[in-house]
Amino acid sequence: MDTQWINFFDISFKCQALALAVVLLLLIDFVRSKKMPLRSSKVFLCFMSVCLFNLFSEVASIYTLYNYKTVPPLVNRLVHTMFYCSIEMIAMTLFLYAFYLIGSQKRFSKRQTLLCMVPFVIAAIGSSFTDIYYVVDERGAYSHGPSVTILYTSIAVYVIGTYVLMLKKNRDCCHTDVADVMKRARITVAVGLGIWIVVALIQLITKYLLISSIGNCLMVLYIYLFLENPKRYEDEETDTLNRQAFHIMVPEMLARKKTFWLVSFTVDDNERITKSMGYDLMKVILRTVANILQTVMPRSRFYHSRSNTLSVFISDREQLDALLKKAGSADFEIPYCGGSFRPQYHIAVLEFPKYGATPDEIYDTMDYLVSHHQKHDNGLVFWVDDETIRNKNYSKQVLAVLTKAVREKAFNVVYQPIWSSEARRFASAEALVRLQDCGELGFISPEIFIPMAEQQGMIDEIGNIVFEKVCSFAAENRLWEKGINYIEVNLSGMQSVDPGLPAQLSAVMQKYGIDPKFINLEITETASIDGGELLDANMKSLRSLGCHFSMDDFGTGYSNLAQMARVHFELVKLDKSLIWPAFGENPEEPMVILESCITMILQLGAHIVAEGVETEEQAEFLSQHGVSYLQGYFYSKPVPGEAFLEKITSVVK
Ligand code: C2E
Ligand code: CA
Ligand code: CA
Repeated sequence: MDTQWINFFDISFKCQALALAVVLLLLIDFVRSKKMPLRSSKVFLCFMSVCLFNLFSEVASIYTLYNYKTVPPLVNRLVHTMFYCSIEMIAMTLFLYAFYLIGSQKRFSKRQTLLCMVPFVIAAIGSSFTDIYYVVDERGAYSHGPSVTILYTSIAVYVIGTYVLMLKKNRDCCHTDVADVMKRARITVAVGLGIWIVVALIQLITKYLLISSIGNCLMVLYIYLFLENPKRYEDEETDTLNRQAFHIMVPEMLARKKTFWLVSFTVDDNERITKSMGYDLMKVILRTVANILQTVMPRSRFYHSRSNTLSVFISDREQLDALLKKAGSADFEIPYCGGSFRPQYHIAVLEFPKYGATPDEIYDTMDYLVSHHQKHDNGLVFWVDDETIRNKNYSKQVLAVLTKAVREKAFNVVYQPIWSSEARRFASAEALVRLQDCGELGFISPEIFIPMAEQQGMIDEIGNIVFEKVCSFAAENRLWEKGINYIEVNLSGMQSVDPGLPAQLSAVMQKYGIDPKFINLEITETASIDGGELLDANMKSLRSLGCHFSMDDFGTGYSNLAQMARVHFELVKLDKSLIWPAFGENPEEPMVILESCITMILQLGAHIVAEGVETEEQAEFLSQHGVSYLQGYFYSKPVPGEAFLEKITSVVK
């Protein structure tokens, strides 16, 4: 052996030793880690094993080549065929891995499996009957020939196949988080494979430098670090699996085509807890809950699927019952600030594939449940049923109509006249927004679309559309000359704390020449309590322009009387829920409450508007007890602008 020989041998050998060590370590780490039960992970394990086998056979092939004088030719040939076939197996298992990873997680049918193996089998047979030529000279050693070319051709088929899979769009899921996870997976596999090809090409050109093992190792390392490393999916703070893992697991579970339940444990009052006690406490809560519930199902993993939610997939009904029993009876006591804290929570149970067959349907339902549960008290365990799915679909349709209406400014405003008990005429009106779908939905109540618009960040635009319509209507008909002292306009909680609100409203009032005194802004009791300094600042600057304020829905929120004293309102609107019971079946106590509220508000120096006045008896009683304004169906329902104009000029009660 001359020095050049030794050099190439040396480099090749070092590359192989290094590659072997790295792949072996990764394989051990992978086997030992707790993983998600994914098909792609199983195939990845195969892929790593094949890579390791390839590295061993490469070492063997180099040994037999450099010692061709002592090794029998048949052994040399067998070792080389094994080595080339193992490269082909790498390409084949990578193709399979990419299929399971990206290609909708469906199980390969028998036909597909056979089809997938065709290039491998053809090449393996073809290469067995063709020649391999060995070159061993003073520069080094390598092998080539028709047998090698056949194997390389079939490798190219798998490589092209893998890239085609990478480019294929997944039509099952449009959820952005999942799309991101998939995109990353595609890019990682494409880059990993790219590294392998580049190194293989270098080897093909340099011939004597046997570095394919390095390409092999880099590819495994790259895919491992950026995709398969189980630690990427650990949520250390809660000792569960993270949201990315959840997005990967959802399509996998659906692809199994077997019944399973997705159980989601959600801590209520997320915002309050994180705002007042910090997000760390939420993590402690979730970790404690996961640890306690894990005792019922030690082999399953929980997923931190949303900031305040833990989810778990369960395939066994008995296990589900045991989990729900445990969740209902366990004491989730969290140590906090020297004392302890027991979080409020609820559990949603979704059965699949009965209530959804695609990942998007799962995410839709989960999104819906989050907003749904905030509004309704459904008890500790909420089972998703046909009605939930109908409501969810309705919400989705409403959202589509709402989005279109915002884009096209297609809202109407109706006016509900407000009766002045002193002047005995209609002295004002409340502007109420209306949304009508020309399709099957028809009239959509603001009680449904306003909260949705708030959630979707569309409320400001709706508020602007309504305000512009109100000002334009008032100016066009010079309402102040028709006995109307002011118009009440509703502000949503979010609008009322928007720092841009005063400038926005003022610009519209100027545009239509409306005196700000003609505008009375209604803020709900709850919003006025939560609004804090931002609300104070907005009220101050709008008041300086001349606008007035009403506290809407008094009696429905927390009725924080101290707050009421802090923020002064010119008008307080008594909610119907405070009025109706006082005229209902057991009126004694509700009447005491109603009378006390009226007295208290009057003593605070505000005027009162009674809402939901439906009978003469109510109207009489309220006006006799100092309620200045009466609003309700007894006087008029909310009506379109024209009808409103007719009413205020003709109706005298
Ligand atoms: P709200 O501000 O409390 O409005 C009064 C609601 O009570 C109106 O319902 C009105 O039609 C209804 N109402 C009035 N008198 C009676 C009565 O005698 N009996 C009964 N049963 N109901 C009566 P509507 O128009 O469906 O509005 C519901 C809620 O939607 C409003 O409650 C308000 O919170 C919100 N909203 C309506 N328009 C707007 C708007 O332009 N902007 C904002 N942010 N919210 C709005
Ligand atoms: Ca109102
Ligand atoms: Ca109200």
